[in-house]
Amino acid sequence: MSERRSVTILGATGSVGRSTLDLIAGERDKYDIVALTAGRDVAALAELARSFRPQLAVIGEEAAYPALRDALAGTGVEAQAGEAATIDAAGAGADWTMAAIVGTAGLKPVMRALEDGRTLALANKEALVSAGALMTRAAAASGATLLPVDSEHNAIYQCFDRAHPTSVRRIILTASGGPFRCRSLEAMRRATPAEAVAHPNWSMGAKISVDSATLMNKGLELIEAYHLFPVGEEAIEIVVHPQSVIHSLVEYADGSVLAQLGAPDMRIPIAYTLAWPERMETKCERLDLVRIGTLGFEAPDLERFPALGLARTALREGGAKPAILNAANEIVVAAFLESRLGFLDIASVVGEVLASYDPDAPSSIDEVLEIDRQARRIAADAAGKFSL
Ligand code: NAD
Ligand code: MG
Repeated sequence: MSERRSVTILGATGSVGRSTLDLIAGERDKYDIVALTAGRDVAALAELARSFRPQLAVIGEEAAYPALRDALAGTGVEAQAGEAATIDAAGAGADWTMAAIVGTAGLKPVMRALEDGRTLALANKEALVSAGALMTRAAAASGATLLPVDSEHNAIYQCFDRAHPTSVRRIILTASGGPFRCRSLEAMRRATPAEAVAHPNWSMGAKISVDSATLMNKGLELIEAYHLFPVGEEAIEIVVHPQSVIHSLVEYADGSVLAQLGAPDMRIPIAYTLAWPERMETKCERLDLVRIGTLGFEAPDLERFPALGLARTALREGGAKPAILNAANEIVVAAFLESRLGFLDIASVVGEVLASYDPDAPSSIDEVLEIDRQARRIAADAAGKFSL
């Protein structure tokens, strides 16, 4: 890269945030870090701030301010706290912002960064699921570049001929199938949080790991793909590919199919967005096709993984449904991780919330967040009925 670039990382202490900093650590002279943010973990944020020396470190939890300020005393890094400070950090003028907060907690910061009109690397898929139309409209209005970090969407972005979108016939999203791909429904009923977060191919945060086990992650990614690429819902297909080597594919009208392949390491798609439109060196494992030997493909099983069907229906129905799907899922995944309900209850509660709550389509971020709050309340009530 020819010039130094200023960067901000929202959700710096998470799995994607740390992978981003790992890439930056290898080329420190190329980046100025404007802000690093985190939700609650003051010690982890302070440690990153001490080693990466951003101008600003922001902790989401207001009450954690004194602890962060004390931990950063004498470093020259400014400490701030609270939701408003996190949103301000997203608009603090970095050329490139990584959106790696998990959940709709990241929505306002993402909108703030998009309104700034620079480059946003988006990992925070829940924001796009809840407010896809508003986000893409904000990006178009400001001229912001929205680069997908999610490995499947990053793969599609690399294969999609944006100059000739009507030549695309189909997008094929690949799914690993998660840790329960070969489990019976009975065994899934008894699945524990520890089993659900043990993903066979990827190392990720707890919430997305559970989403990968239910396949809700692929459902959220279906909605994500719909907003990122100009094809209809019916042109987005999901195929289970257990090796996670092909990250997704684009089929053209003439029958040509382009795919992006690579080791299952998030640093590869993150590096693509960090260096974009150039490429950077990474130390990631190189693909050894001979060692992999065979690539497999299967149709997803909608009976054992009903979350996938719920997501497709929510996308077809549109309006508030995707935001409700996402909010209910965030609540029940948290309940499952605390062993308050069973694995199969995750999709059934999300389905119940979708069936019982039908507000008008949101036309602003505040309306999305109001629907999000209501859906969370209904989901929490429904989840409270379970006792294991
Ligand atoms: P994680 O749980 O490891 O990290 C989440 C980050 O968000 C942390 O820094 C946390 O402090 C911060 N955060 C959480 N709640 C917050 C709040 N209320 N306010 C402010 N900050 C808050 O999650 P992750 O696995 O890094 O995933 C981040 C996002 O990227 C998710 O949307 C996920 O779906 C997406 N994603 C992750 C991966 C992966 O490999 N981990 C792959 C594709 C997409
Ligand atoms: Mg993904």
